[in-house]
Amino acid sequence: MVKEQKKEVPGKQQPKQEKITFQKSKEQDFSEWFSEIVEKSELVDLRYNLKGFVVFRPWAVRTIEVMYDLFEQELQKKGHEPCWFPSLIPESNLKKEAEHVEGFTPQVFWVTQAGNTILDEKLAMRPTSETAMYPMYSIWIRGYSDLPLKIYQRAQVWRYETKATRPLLRSREFYWIEGHDCFATKEEAEAQVLEDIDTTEKVMHQKLGIPFLPLRRPAWDMFPGAIYTIGSDTFTPDGKVIQQPSTHFLSQDFAKTFNIKFKDKDGKDKYVWQTCYGPAMSRILGSLVATHGDNKGLVLPFYVSPVQIIIVPIYKTETKEKIIKECKKIEEEIKTLGIRTKIDEKDVSPGNKFYFWEMKGIPLRLEIGEQELKSKEYTLYIRDENKKIKIKKLEDLKKQGELFDKRLKDKADSFIEKAIVNCKTKDELKKALENKKIARIEFCSIEKPGIPCAETIEKDFNAFVRGVRHDKKEQAKGKCMFCGKKANEVVYVAKSY
Ligand SMILES: [Zn+2]
Repeated sequence: MVKEQKKEVPGKQQPKQEKITFQKSKEQDFSEWFSEIVEKSELVDLRYNLKGFVVFRPWAVRTIEVMYDLFEQELQKKGHEPCWFPSLIPESNLKKEAEHVEGFTPQVFWVTQAGNTILDEKLAMRPTSETAMYPMYSIWIRGYSDLPLKIYQRAQVWRYETKATRPLLRSREFYWIEGHDCFATKEEAEAQVLEDIDTTEKVMHQKLGIPFLPLRRPAWDMFPGAIYTIGSDTFTPDGKVIQQPSTHFLSQDFAKTFNIKFKDKDGKDKYVWQTCYGPAMSRILGSLVATHGDNKGLVLPFYVSPVQIIIVPIYKTETKEKIIKECKKIEEEIKTLGIRTKIDEKDVSPGNKFYFWEMKGIPLRLEIGEQELKSKEYTLYIRDENKKIKIKKLEDLKKQGELFDKRLKDKADSFIEKAIVNCKTKDELKKALENKKIARIEFCSIEKPGIPCAETIEKDFNAFVRGVRHDKKEQAKGKCMFCGKKANEVVYVAKSY
């Protein structure tokens, strides 16, 4: 809760005026805080009259556009090409892959009628696009020179989520990128899985400052149709993890189903090896809010903020024209540095402007008034540290932006590191989860034999086995605390969204 008290004039009795930003602070009640901040910062409007669907307002869209660009640049750098596939998928396509259809059918929105005509075949609003893309891949891919085929699309997908929906984090319509790749060999496909995790690292962690644990999911928690799935779990202050981009090693099962074959160098017809990857922008925006936001509003990394520096002119009526004119010069100069900036010329008090842009999470604010023009020193407000400094050269703004992002990332890294607790007994596990931590435990197996123990965790602790580290080998030495059998894995257990 943020209280802004007005300065009292000495000798004069004044009623206390308090400005309350959020009903509950982030630390007090993260869930409440989150629901409030996404609306107050005008990211989304929840009043649309369809459950699970939200309106993305300009501030969210502009932020997501930057995120899309970052991901697409990284994917293209790694040899992916963009494509746009139809959003409707014939039911017969979906039915081809048994496991896939079983996994997704309960979540599909169906189109059954067009105008007054009842359709002969139901059409699925894509919940994901394997069954739209792979029939085309079987036409496109002929010989080994057509491989690798690395295609992605930016798209909306629709899933009829039956769990409680939450804005950004769990909606029935979301915005994502899906990458679908085909390779001649298993080795290349498995290398792609690592490359996808690197893409998540380069964008989500390095640029957005959101740390994650790359976890190989247990056999019972995989994408329908995958041989294995690596999820990227981010962490929220209420002790829950959120699955962010996941990447799936699909093996050749889809290739066999959709007949995606190529003539290899040895003249033999072979099935391709496939992977798919799906960073969801709207969800990552949710993690961005959760990770960096504070009790004054959003805190956006310099790299992604739609406006990186807001210029607030400070003037009296008689100096207004002159100051605005100077601000415009400064704005142009900052733009030539490649920085997204604008002047807030609205006819409201500077204090109100400060409050507004702090809520929006703009990292840096330049305050320019008579004094700044005289001294040739600029007053720079730094959002995350809530402090003002003086800078002499506008060129220094870039450096300030970089420092800003590094601070956000370091803080978030340290937060998730401290959240991981080693637990050897059920009591320790219980305590860790109650204290809103991620538990690291030794566990019998992430293959089928581990299911009973995982179910115990779910039933007794309302938490989930999220998987084993994919980025490093962690060796178990003891026994599983549930079944007493030899522990083969070190797993991470957490509550989740
Ligand atoms: Zn066990």
